[in-house]
This record gives sequence, C-alpha cells and structure tokens, in this order.
Amino acid sequence: MEELDPFKIAQTQLDEAAEIMHLDETAHAILREPMRTIIVNIPVKMDNGKVKTFAGFRVQYNDVRGPCKGGIRFHPQESLSTVKALAAWMTWKTSLANIPFGGGKGGVICDPKSLSESETERLSRGYVRALAKFIGPDTDVPAPDVYTTPQIMAWMMDEYSKLAGHNEFSMITGKPMEVWGSEGRFNSTAMGAMYVLREAAKKLKLQLKGAKVAIQGFGNAGSFAFELASQLGCKIVAITDSLGGTYSDNGLDYKTLAEVKEKTGSVQNYEGGTKITNKGLFDYDVDVIIPAAIENQITKENANKIKAKLVLELANGPVTPEADKILFERGILDLPDFLVNSGGVIVSYFEWAQNIEQYYWTSEEVYARLDKIVTNSFNSVMSVQDSYKTKGTKITPRDAAYIIAVDRVAKAMKARGWY
Ligand code: GLU
Repeated sequence: MEELDPFKIAQTQLDEAAEIMHLDETAHAILREPMRTIIVNIPVKMDNGKVKTFAGFRVQYNDVRGPCKGGIRFHPQESLSTVKALAAWMTWKTSLANIPFGGGKGGVICDPKSLSESETERLSRGYVRALAKFIGPDTDVPAPDVYTTPQIMAWMMDEYSKLAGHNEFSMITGKPMEVWGSEGRFNSTAMGAMYVLREAAKKLKLQLKGAKVAIQGFGNAGSFAFELASQLGCKIVAITDSLGGTYSDNGLDYKTLAEVKEKTGSVQNYEGGTKITNKGLFDYDVDVIIPAAIENQITKENANKIKAKLVLELANGPVTPEADKILFERGILDLPDFLVNSGGVIVSYFEWAQNIEQYYWTSEEVYARLDKIVTNSFNSVMSVQDSYKTKGTKITPRDAAYIIAVDRVAKAMKARGWY
C-alpha cells in the first residue's frame, strides 16, 4: 500500500534530499520533527446557545531563519499529521524563496460550510485567544489557507490586538485592505504560479497561447489560476471543485463558472460541459495540469494516466512520492508545491514588512518584486537539477528544491550553534 500519511510523506521527501546532499546527521534529525506542537481545545458558543468545543492545532516547525510563518486551515478532516506536514513544507517554502521566516501551520477541525458567520467569528477569535501566548509578529505569523479568508484574518488580528492592548497589524497576513492587507495578496498564490508557468513553458518550449489546461479546485488558488492562465492565452478545458467538475474541449468560460458556483454551490452544474469527477480530471489529454485543491490527489494509481507535459502543484502536497517518481520517469515536468505556490507567502512577507514600516507599496511594486523572487527560485531549482545531472545523478525538481531549502536552514542552524 502506498503511504498517504502527509507527515510521513514530508519526512520521506526530506530523507531523500538529505541522502543526495549528504546532510549532517544531527541537522537531519532536528529537521525531521517539528520544533513545537500546540494542541488547543476551543469552546465556542453556537447560535443555539449551546457551547461546542473544537480541536485546534498550531505547529511551529522551525524558526531558525525567522518567525514561523504559515496559514490556518478550517477543515472537517483536519489532522495533526497534515498540519505537521504543511508546517514542514512552509519551512522549505520560505527558505527556497529566501525570505526571513521559518515554517508553521495551523488547523481547526470543523466544517466551515455548516457554521454561521457569527459562529465562524467566535471560533476564529477563540483560536487566537487559545494561542495568543505563542504567536505574534516576531514569533509566529499566521495567514489564510483552505477555507479561511481575509475576514477571518481581520477578526484574528482584532482579537490579538485587544489582548495586547494596542494594534498589532503585523501579527497576521492576508488581511483585508481596510486593515492594512497588501496590494496583490488576494491573488498572489496564483500569480506566483503564473510566473512559474511562464518560465516552465519557455524551458519546455510550450506555446502557452491555446495550451490546454486542467485545474483541480476552484477556491482561492484555483479560481485565480483560471483567470490568470486565461490571460496568458491558455484554454482551460477542465475544472473541478470538491463536489465534481466539468470538461469542454472548446474551453470553459470563467464568468459563467463563477456564477454557477455562486448559485448552485458547484462548478459541475456548468451547462455546455461534460460532468466529470474530481479524479477524472487527471485523465484528459491536456498540456498542463494544475492541482489546486488538497493533498494526495496524484498517486501511483493515476500518475501513469497523466498525459500533460507539465504539472504545476498549486495545492500543498498534491503529488505523492511514488507518483512523483512515475511522473519523473515518464518525462513529465512536475514542479513542486513549495516552489509553485510560494507567491502567497512571499506577498505575506511583503504585507508583514509594510505593516512594520507603515509604508505601503503599489500593486505594480508588489507584483514586480514577486516575479523577481519566484523566477529566481525557479531558475535556482533548474540549475541545481542540472548540476547534479552533469555529475551523473538524476534528481527530481522536488529534490533540487529541497536541497536548496534544507541547505539554507541547516547552515543557519550551524551558524547559531544548534548542532
Ligand atoms: N497558506 C499559504 C501557503 O500555504 C500562505 C501562507 C502565508 O502566507 O503565510 O503558502
């Protein structure tokens, strides 16, 4: 049976890179486990007057290069293992982007679709109260992730500020513009992925005009990826959300899809397309696949069926290690999550920096700086992969990205005397 436990997968990926790069044993042991794991129980008064308790997590994986950084997920299937894996991936993400943060992640086990707005607000505030001693602008800076929004960030910032007795805008990122969010943060995850797509297309000599694209997920990352990829000339032929999706060889229309999603709750009700399942999306003959939903979507069961030339991991952890190997052997360029989706945390860094400086940038400045960092990361990953190739060792882009990220973290730990 293929291993699908997210944290075991994260450890396996690290182990593989550690072996290739001959990572120091002690550094490896430190990096195999989170620095700190916090589990909280959050009592929330529901609209019916009864109090319900929710389990919440915050994993602070490593902070040797700066405060822990990473989103908070509200998900019914949330688990500590997933949060640990996501916190590890955040550590590699901030390191690869070379921004002054470590990695962390949070999660609450809840079904956000069944909570009213005021219940969501009380849960969000409760989460911050439970964790207030452990987070802050210099220690751990949360952000949005699956099913958490700018509004939720605003409530969390407000709660933290009330406890602190003064405004602390820089304690969380992904805030609405009214309370000093950053220009460009709303679509930054997808925007970063588009810079990667542009660079990868150059490398593969893939013409983006008319290129067929399939996207799994129509949330914050997937829906903006749809819009932005269309602007690059791509034809989006397949899209799904958690309930299912739609396919049309002629390409799908973004506005209509957004309306259908709003009205019926799922893109699968789009007229003019064939209904498809979430996993069925991967079987189509397309040039680019963008998994933009959740982990473990491309596994050894379906990796052989993929016909695309390029897989852009916009979600966190969508490709299992066995699938990664299959794609690599089949000559498909699979670009890892912590490169492809780094745009979100990079603009979070800009937001944090702007909050601290209290000096705000234009969207042009934000996108230009984002482009520079992401393009640089892509080129470093490709050049590390090439340099191993010339030495006779074939490594995946994920291995190359790990080598760069782990090396920076290990060197910082060494410099600080952690080993
Ligand atoms: N949740 C996003 C991620 O997985 C953004 C994290 C952040 O901005 O801190 O990268």
